[in-house]
Amino acid sequence: MSRPLFQFKGGVHPPGHKAESNTRPIHAAPLPKKLVIPLRQHIGNPAKPVVSVGDHVRKGQIIGEADGYISTAVHASSSGIVTAVDLQPVPHVSGLADLCVTIETDGRDEWVAREPLDLGAPPAELRMRLRDLGIVGLGGAVFPSAVKLDPGAAQVCPTLIINGGECEPWITCDDVLMRHFADEILQGVAVMRLLLGSSEILIGIEDNKPEAIAAMQAAAAKLDFAVEIVAVPARYPAGGAKQMIETLTGKQVPSGKLSTDIGIQVFNVGTARALARAACHGEPLISRLVTVTGHVLRPQNFEVLIGTPMHTLITLAGERDGNTGVLMGGPMMGVPMPNLDVPVVKATNCVLVKSKELFPPLPKALPCIRCTRCADACPAELQPQELFRFAKAGDFGRAQEYHLFDCIECGCCSYVCPSHIPLVDFYRYAKSEIWAREKDKRASDLARERHEFRQFRIEREKKEKAEKLAAKAQAKRAELAAGADTATPAAADADANAKKALIAAALARAQAKKDEVAPKNIDNLSPDTRHEIEEIEARRAKIRELARQPLESEEKNS
Ligand code: SF4
Ligand code: SF4
Repeated sequence: MSRPLFQFKGGVHPPGHKAESNTRPIHAAPLPKKLVIPLRQHIGNPAKPVVSVGDHVRKGQIIGEADGYISTAVHASSSGIVTAVDLQPVPHVSGLADLCVTIETDGRDEWVAREPLDLGAPPAELRMRLRDLGIVGLGGAVFPSAVKLDPGAAQVCPTLIINGGECEPWITCDDVLMRHFADEILQGVAVMRLLLGSSEILIGIEDNKPEAIAAMQAAAAKLDFAVEIVAVPARYPAGGAKQMIETLTGKQVPSGKLSTDIGIQVFNVGTARALARAACHGEPLISRLVTVTGHVLRPQNFEVLIGTPMHTLITLAGERDGNTGVLMGGPMMGVPMPNLDVPVVKATNCVLVKSKELFPPLPKALPCIRCTRCADACPAELQPQELFRFAKAGDFGRAQEYHLFDCIECGCCSYVCPSHIPLVDFYRYAKSEIWAREKDKRASDLARERHEFRQFRIEREKKEKAEKLAAKAQAKRAELAAGADTATPAAADADANAKKALIAAALARAQAKKDEVAPKNIDNLSPDTRHEIEEIEARRAKIRELARQPLESEEKNS
């Protein structure tokens, strides 16, 4: 019995243009003379360079180490000499340069020693090995696979979905990969199953890829575990992770949550093959399949070393006059390339060359007529016209309230807009502004916290100093008081006696002084004179005595 399928809301049916490139065999792009390998090819921290100019490196050697948990290593794609570790243009819509390692290849393509992974090793160790082998999601998000293969506290992730949707027009690298490498893809799936502990494995493939479906079914039949290959209706963006989950399981990932929150993990088929190469052969991720299509003579898929210049691929596919620009990715979600010297990176699934005939310039954008066609087409159930209004007005807070970050940038809204408004460009602009502001805010918060801590430290030091001085003064006072309290009674008596002696001495000195100044005319008198004086003194004493007695009249009156 076939599995019941569910339908996600919205979506569009743009012309597929798949046959242009999926009918030719895969070719290996030749080794270029120069490889420019960016150290930031994944979500998270860019790799830290571990080579210097002049170093000889071998194919598969680490040239940039993973920096933290959400990061992966970056490797030399071939052997040669490092000629630069500097800023180079990279395939990013900003056109800005980023840190890259440039290798002048020596043509020998010599590998480093490799060995298969021990699948019996503890899961955490296995994941670290995959991180060091540079495995990231190849479906466009380039999220480090080691992180996605960690079920965390849940211990297991019951449902594993392998995404073979590839719904973007023109791109066929996943289709071709499934046709040619179905067994390898399923070897990778076995490793994912082991690390996630999944019991249900579903592989969703759009029903416009019958050869891929047949190849995967044949490979799945050889396995000793159950894998269900499910054909899903071809409708853009059926290959979006959330849309694939909803189509296969009927479950929706809630806003702001991860699919693992509802017990589901999703990997692209390209990631599964890269994982198999890593597990079975110890090979780091140094190449990938790239569709080169559009305005070229021989649209096809190439196996390309990471770091190969894009113009090399266009030359291989047959450059034509009338090129009006190049997109990395498809026409719905692709980003324009600033120049064609930029290298192929892990996220490069397609190099789409444009021409006036294939991609006529859009008419001038007109005002929004509030027709709501964009809302009808939006698979994320957003209000694109409102998001546009807020993004245009710089009202990013309101844009976030309208779930700007649930937008998967699928471009369905722009595709159906009768006013030809480049809606997705506004959403990308709003998101980048919000990220930039958050980054600035984090930086200013950090600066403020540092300043506040410095002020706190100065105040604390002042307080500590004041407390020390106060404690010292207190100790001195206590010491003095203790000295007074501990004096003995004998010492106190001695003190008092000393004081008395001092007073007596002072009185004696005063008396002596007084004596010195007393009249000296009675010294050395003759006995007669002395006798005479004594008589005079006696009479005086008598008179004083009489003077003290009351008068007779006074006695009578009293
Ligand atoms: S489709 Fe275009 S014109 Fe219509 S509501 Fe949306 S943004 Fe406005
Ligand atoms: S680009 Fe965003 S807003 Fe537009 S249809 Fe897609 S998810 Fe909706």
